[in-house]
Amino acid sequence: MSVRVPISRIRNIGIMAHIDAGKTTLTERILYYTGRLHRLGEVHDGAATMDWMDQERERGITITSAATTSDWKDHQINIIDTPGHVDFTMEVERSLRVLDGAIAVFCGVGGVEPQSETVWRQADRYSVPRIAFVNKMDRVGANFRETVQMIRERLGTRALPIVFPVKTGDIIHSLVDIVEMKEITYVEETLGATFNIHDVSPDVLERAEIEHGHMIEEVAEFDDELMHRYLEGEPISTEMLKRAIRKGTLQNEIVPVLCGAAFKNKGVQRLLDAVVDYLPSPLDVPPITGEDLKTTEEVTREPSPEAPFSALAFKIVTDPYIGRLTYMRIYSGTLASGQKVRNTSRDKNERIGRLVRMHADKREEEKEVRAGDIVAAVGLKTVKTGDSICASDEPVLLESMHFPEPVISVAIEPRSRPDEEKLAKALEGLSDEDPTFQVKVDAETGQTLISGMGELHLDILVERMRREFKVSANVGSPEVAYRERISRPAGTRMRFVRQSGGRGQFADVKIEIEPLKSGAGFEFVNKIVGGSIPREYIPAVEAGAKDAMQGGILAGFPMIDVRVTLVDGSSHDVDSSEIAFRTAGSMAFKEAARKAGIELLEPLMDVEIIVPSQYLGDVVGELSSRRAKVGGMLQKGDSQVISALAPLKEMFGYATTLRSLTQGRGIYSMQFGRYDAVPTSLEEEIIKAHRGATV
Ligand code: GDP
Repeated sequence: MSVRVPISRIRNIGIMAHIDAGKTTLTERILYYTGRLHRLGEVHDGAATMDWMDQERERGITITSAATTSDWKDHQINIIDTPGHVDFTMEVERSLRVLDGAIAVFCGVGGVEPQSETVWRQADRYSVPRIAFVNKMDRVGANFRETVQMIRERLGTRALPIVFPVKTGDIIHSLVDIVEMKEITYVEETLGATFNIHDVSPDVLERAEIEHGHMIEEVAEFDDELMHRYLEGEPISTEMLKRAIRKGTLQNEIVPVLCGAAFKNKGVQRLLDAVVDYLPSPLDVPPITGEDLKTTEEVTREPSPEAPFSALAFKIVTDPYIGRLTYMRIYSGTLASGQKVRNTSRDKNERIGRLVRMHADKREEEKEVRAGDIVAAVGLKTVKTGDSICASDEPVLLESMHFPEPVISVAIEPRSRPDEEKLAKALEGLSDEDPTFQVKVDAETGQTLISGMGELHLDILVERMRREFKVSANVGSPEVAYRERISRPAGTRMRFVRQSGGRGQFADVKIEIEPLKSGAGFEFVNKIVGGSIPREYIPAVEAGAKDAMQGGILAGFPMIDVRVTLVDGSSHDVDSSEIAFRTAGSMAFKEAARKAGIELLEPLMDVEIIVPSQYLGDVVGELSSRRAKVGGMLQKGDSQVISALAPLKEMFGYATTLRSLTQGRGIYSMQFGRYDAVPTSLEEEIIKAHRGATV
């Protein structure tokens, strides 16, 4: 779009769905209607729609790009890609971080699938306002009312239908819009691509009026004027009703629900209208906060072109034609191509090269972009996913994204000399793109270890190394990322004294350590009063404790979830140094940890398995041999959904087992749940194996 829209007319949205609900089809249709149809006017030939999309697919259509811009009724809609597979929760999280609102797609037959529940909860966590689209209404057995009911019950939300379908069998004749009280009748010959809007036909008028009335009651609380008119029995205009629905949606109190069949071109335009009517613009969401690096205070950055520039890099992609693309959400200010910026996350200056915007069918260069927008920059070198970029003279560090720690690793070894270089390049590129993919060289063995979120995650990354970077490498078998944790609080005093020739070393620290709850990480508390340890040495004690934790104590696995409190100590005027305090900190931690007792932790995964009912017994029985705890079972049509918590180690190779147990009909997904203690009976074996591997 060359004409710039005001910020209030920008919508940054994601489309979230369970796999197979029709997200791809819906996105294609949205891009079609917002792009082509808009420019060409009406398309009367449904087949042309398909043609255009097939061509686009062959050319590698950019609907898979991290953000695609489209236009609808004087609004700019930026669609941020959200992957459907829960193994990549991190991908979902990072898109939730930069979008302002979302369309949640459900299947009219399947309803609220367990995976849609996972994604829904993530969106709850970020308070993302949503509208729901019940797709596949053309399928036999699709039921709009039931799906709405399920959204209410399973997701605990106030779902508010704003349309209903008029169907016979698998044909959707029309949609009744109960906000505007209009009926949209599709012209079947054009495969739904054209339609007529008219007054609600008499046979569905009564239902429409009843639902319209319910809707007014439901949303009255969000708008005083509407409430007043409702109580006085005065007429309520469409604008007023829309305003109330919008307020309720933005407050995350209600979720407007629409329906249609993306595949049959039905309901998509109404959905786009709802995006414009009910989802937030960047002005409707709270301004971003961050740390002002000049004052170290928390500041907000207003979504205004006049504010100091700040942006968050949320995805890095290597494009075969233009190179490294950094997708960013601009939170405040204005950014021009060629401008100098600061990457506050890495403390580096950078110059912005070209700025590009992705459309479904083209790339567009922008000279200048402003607050609220989403674009990609070409040529940034130091920026990684999650980094803050800002005006050089107004440095700010934005709240970063939450990236889970990798739970699984494999050793990777290049097959030949030339592969060594290619591998290094691939590892660098891929870890820049994906912060949950980590690369480490084992200090003892010299082996390169890559870690990620699950077997599938690593498989895909290894496959990309082969295909995109032409790396030929041997890959070891997967290893679980174990952790260590202290069992009880303990304390110790450690004096570190060296007086052999030259300058001496002296440090004396007294610390207390205690276990924290799972996921709390590391905390350091300084309780030194009266300067018994000079201020400048205190960070060294903390660093020393961290050194010891990183190296592990029981079996060399990093230690987590502990608080270290520095309570007392002393120093020497001449002999004390940072190094001495760091060493003392590390020694003290090790000794205190041994006193406290150490347990080995393993990652437990939240597993969800969907199997045809006749296999339930076999699958559940087999799970118990994997130390899994079955948390629940749920009948869904002819299938059973099993939720379980299982140690990652026991889930290796589960895909193959499930396939053979269910004749290929079972599916499963899993994501990291939490760390928990390994049963004592297995602890020794794991420690021995690990020591063996690193000797
Ligand atoms: P995704 O996995 O969510 O991206 O789903 P896709 O868009 O790939 O769709 C999954 C399957 O459902 C495909 O076979 C689609 O053709 C089909 N599908 C998508 N939308 C509809 C619809 O509205 N009606 C029907 N009957 N099928 C649909």
